[in-house]
Amino acid sequence: MSLGEFELIKQYFQQQSGAPGVALGIGDDCALLTVPLGQQLAVSMDTSIADVHFPADGEPDLIAERALRVNISDLAAMGAEPLWFTLGLTLPDADPQWLQAFSQGLFRVAREYGIALVGGDTTRGKLSITIQVHGAVAEGKALLRSRASEGDQIFVTGPVGDGAAALAVMKQQLSAASMMTDYLMERYYRPQPQVVAGQLLTNFCAAAIDISDGLVADLGHICEQSGVGADLHLERIPLSEAVRQLVSFEQGIDWALSGGDDYQLCFTVPKAQVQQLETLVSTGKIVAHHIGEITAGNGVSCWHNSNPVVPSGKGFQHFGGQEALS
Ligand SMILES: [Mg+2]
Repeated sequence: MSLGEFELIKQYFQQQSGAPGVALGIGDDCALLTVPLGQQLAVSMDTSIADVHFPADGEPDLIAERALRVNISDLAAMGAEPLWFTLGLTLPDADPQWLQAFSQGLFRVAREYGIALVGGDTTRGKLSITIQVHGAVAEGKALLRSRASEGDQIFVTGPVGDGAAALAVMKQQLSAASMMTDYLMERYYRPQPQVVAGQLLTNFCAAAIDISDGLVADLGHICEQSGVGADLHLERIPLSEAVRQLVSFEQGIDWALSGGDDYQLCFTVPKAQVQQLETLVSTGKIVAHHIGEITAGNGVSCWHNSNPVVPSGKGFQHFGGQEALS
């Protein structure tokens, strides 16, 4: 890009100062950041590419919101407090209107979660957004995927399946009333990273993951890294009002199991600490739906009203296969 274009881009992104821990922000060769005493730095990076992860002609402020929210969700999944992020932006051209809207969306989310932009880079090419987030978590307290044990109970922080439902609406495989479309687009572009829940869970001996690839795949990662299995009770999985009204239970559950893009947390809590979690739930500090338990086996086993079922990617079937769920 030409110098003029770089200047233009700088104009939209160099606007934060005085954020916690930022000894030196944008403007020098590096930012200088001070990690809070006794805390570990949690670092994660995610790239979103136009027409792969979001429609290229989407609203620029929503594209920015989604890109940052999805990254913050990984901090939530570790129980970390969001602190700083860097941005790598590849653009076909430096369109001032697009950049202005994009930066507005970006900083809206940054303010909401108290995370400061501390550096970045821009190049010319097909629209793509890379964000690296940094967060802090007390030493030894992070929610690791490897921490689940047999007998632990499995929870999810909210409805799953909305991400896949939103995609179906966007791809025009499904038509929905405008109120539901609005709800699903909101869930797709503005997922709510479960930062508060994640931080509360660091008080438990918990394993956690954010649901980006669907419950079966993501819970599967916990199983794999912990060397355990999981029983998942499909009738307990929370589906949103929109999904329940739009499609069959079977389709809704299929989206929950294999859709992804939900950014709720799936987490495990040892049996002895479940009472403590329930206290937090009943006082409204956290939302937790009890959906299963960790077993000595391996992989995720699905059950519907105590019957074993196999998710097929096209709904799921009872063993034997003849009986469809209604
Ligand atoms: Mg993740």
